[in-house]
Amino acid sequence: MQLGLAYILIASFLIIVLIFPLYVYKAKKTKNKKRIIDIQFAKQLRTFLRKRYPTYRFKFLKAGRIKSQNKQIAQVLLVESLAKQFANFSFELRTQKTIENNKLWESYQNNSVSNTKLPSDWPRRRELVWQRDEKVCQRCKRSLKLDEVQIFFLRNIEDGGTYYFENMLELCIDCSKILSTPQGTSVWQTLPLYDELMDFVKN
Ligand SMILES: [Zn+2]
Repeated sequence: MQLGLAYILIASFLIIVLIFPLYVYKAKKTKNKKRIIDIQFAKQLRTFLRKRYPTYRFKFLKAGRIKSQNKQIAQVLLVESLAKQFANFSFELRTQKTIENNKLWESYQNNSVSNTKLPSDWPRRRELVWQRDEKVCQRCKRSLKLDEVQIFFLRNIEDGGTYYFENMLELCIDCSKILSTPQGTSVWQTLPLYDELMDFVKN
């Protein structure tokens, strides 16, 4: 009986001595793997993104779980995560507001019909959409100059869409790409925004 107890004690002692260092080693290894991206780099990106996109909040925490010992790889993975978040956030397309009658012109109705060729009054329409949409991309709220505006047609011109104001909205180049690309495609890789964020990695 006494021998049995001693045996159990010795066995327990051995288990603790052997298992504990292994546990410490594993915990240390996991901690290293969980290394969060360098704060300075993340801060730079956050400042850039907040300035450009006043309403959309990127999730840096999600991206912070990146597991890489290599600083540059971790930075690239963070950029990829941000570009994917931008490409994936949902946006509901709905019929747009019209323009007050007193701003319209005589040939407006006739020129609004579906036509693969842009109507002769296109620059005027484009500018009015820009003003109506408060000079910001309707998806990401990035502020846009007139020459940066992409006009998106709710119903494609090829599918019978028209040039009426209700069928058009203002987007930035990134959002225009996102909405024009079929879902399930890795559109984030083709975004100008992705290239701009990658420039932070290189510098
Ligand atoms: Zn946009």
